[in-house]
Amino acid sequence: MIDKAGIARALREIGALLELEGENPFKVRAYENGARAVEGLAEDVGALAAAGRLTEVPGIGDALAKKIADLHRTGTTEVLDRLRAKHPPGTLELLRVPDLGPKKAAALQAALGIADLAGLEAACLAGHVRGVKGFGEKTEQKILEGIRRMRAREADRRVLLSDALLAGEALLAHLRASPAAARVEIAGSARRLRETVGDLDLVAASRDPAALAARLAAFPLVDEVLARGETKTTVRLASGLQVDLRIVPPEDFATLLHHLTGSKAHHVKLRGIARDLGYTLSEWGLHRLGPGPAAGAGADRPDPAAKVRLASEEDLYAALGLAFVPPELREDAGEIEAARDGTLPEDLVRLEDVRGLVHCHTTWSDGRATLEEMARAADALGAEYLTVTDHSRSAGYAGGLDEDRLRRQWDEIARVQEKVKVRLLRGTESDVLEDGALDYPDRVLEALDVVVASVHSRMKMGEDEMTRRLVRCMSLPVFKIWGHPLGRLLLERDPIACRVEEVLDALAGSRGAVEVNGDPHRLELEPRWLRAAAARKIPVVLSVDAHATSDLGYLRWAVGAARRGWVRRGQVLNALPFERFRAAVRPA
Ligand SMILES: [Zn+2]
Ligand SMILES: [Zn+2]
Repeated sequence: MIDKAGIARALREIGALLELEGENPFKVRAYENGARAVEGLAEDVGALAAAGRLTEVPGIGDALAKKIADLHRTGTTEVLDRLRAKHPPGTLELLRVPDLGPKKAAALQAALGIADLAGLEAACLAGHVRGVKGFGEKTEQKILEGIRRMRAREADRRVLLSDALLAGEALLAHLRASPAAARVEIAGSARRLRETVGDLDLVAASRDPAALAARLAAFPLVDEVLARGETKTTVRLASGLQVDLRIVPPEDFATLLHHLTGSKAHHVKLRGIARDLGYTLSEWGLHRLGPGPAAGAGADRPDPAAKVRLASEEDLYAALGLAFVPPELREDAGEIEAARDGTLPEDLVRLEDVRGLVHCHTTWSDGRATLEEMARAADALGAEYLTVTDHSRSAGYAGGLDEDRLRRQWDEIARVQEKVKVRLLRGTESDVLEDGALDYPDRVLEALDVVVASVHSRMKMGEDEMTRRLVRCMSLPVFKIWGHPLGRLLLERDPIACRVEEVLDALAGSRGAVEVNGDPHRLELEPRWLRAAAARKIPVVLSVDAHATSDLGYLRWAVGAARRGWVRRGQVLNALPFERFRAAVRPA
């Protein structure tokens, strides 16, 4: 069953796709009117439908009433299924671009085969859109501007993964304390560890859903209860984060958790595999396709008697002939094929594999804790080693160290080492200068244990110039860790423009590693580039980029980002014991 908001959303989707097909405007508008009518209902949709009274609502005629009843009962309806089968999933996204409109969207789909927003943006940037009849350079610019505005608007509603997960974990603890909770888990993109999250999805198994829903509403940080239904409660936290809690009987828990974890693309592919094996896979679980005309029509909720009992997600994948796919990999990026062929990595890096904390700042540059405080905090965490990598001399804004201060820091490192167990390594986070050089002469670099090489200045350089700058730096003979490689700040600053694969080629041809930066605003390299690095046999360092003792906990986010990029334990340099790590990263 879906609620009013879901029904309204589905009706609008039908309207938008019909408009794209050139359907007559009155018919299109009827869906918008119907959506509004449903949203404004004071009574329960199900009760109205059951009583055959939906048509009494202004704006809802016979045909619409039937579709609303279908949607309420099954989550979909015939016309929606037909439209979804016909149009790629990215179509709705295209229709939301300001100033594009359904006619232009259809024309671009037809002429250039554009399937989604990313495709549209790429086509505009490549100048292909202006070549389509009826489009010019100005329209192309307008579309790009519209995409930018749309992204900015949507960015407003997203939060960092760390914010969402920390709130989610507090909620889990609160809900699990209730006797009504058999199980509660985080689902959605937060479970997949996506870098930013729109809203938080929780799934619970309970025989007493009303008690559990009440428990959620009583969470101290809940600002407002937005909706409370039999199986779904939505609240908004004081931080603005929206939380959906879905509650099902224990026997439906595993499949709903899987369904709500996504991603959509992963699920689309799994549904195809299920069909080939004689099943249907949906939010209601896995069902055997029975004989008879209703089978496979998809419009009705599957027959409960045909349900395959699955106790866990592992069982679900097994039923489909697949190895279990960890949530972080469920992006339709080759994981399903690998799960079928038995080539899914089984040794993805885990938090407990990491032995050393890399990339730490202290009060010598822009850190907020002294070297000794950082060292003691690392000791308390049981780290084997800690690399002290304060900023280099050109980073004046961050209190970068000139050669003289750098040498004095080495004296302090030696003094602090006497007092702590964690092994301290002498390093730098060296600026990559405008011409691609590092910030200290070779004789200084050679005296260090670790060099992180990061771009901090002139970030708006053009792509050619930036690529040259990085290629030159990464080709230098010293071993360097490419620090926060593309310099993005999530929800704040775009990545620098550069041809990443060229830079990775340079790094692969020289000596160095790429960083997975665990600062929750950074979380890069992103997955596709980590896999490109792995393909080139470039090792990886999971870093904390800590500016305070509490930031040492960023390691968790670095591990998550690395797992999304299929990083295996054997690729990670700071999973090595101290002496081997030191030998692996020695600059000269
Ligand atoms: Zn930096
Ligand atoms: Zn840093």
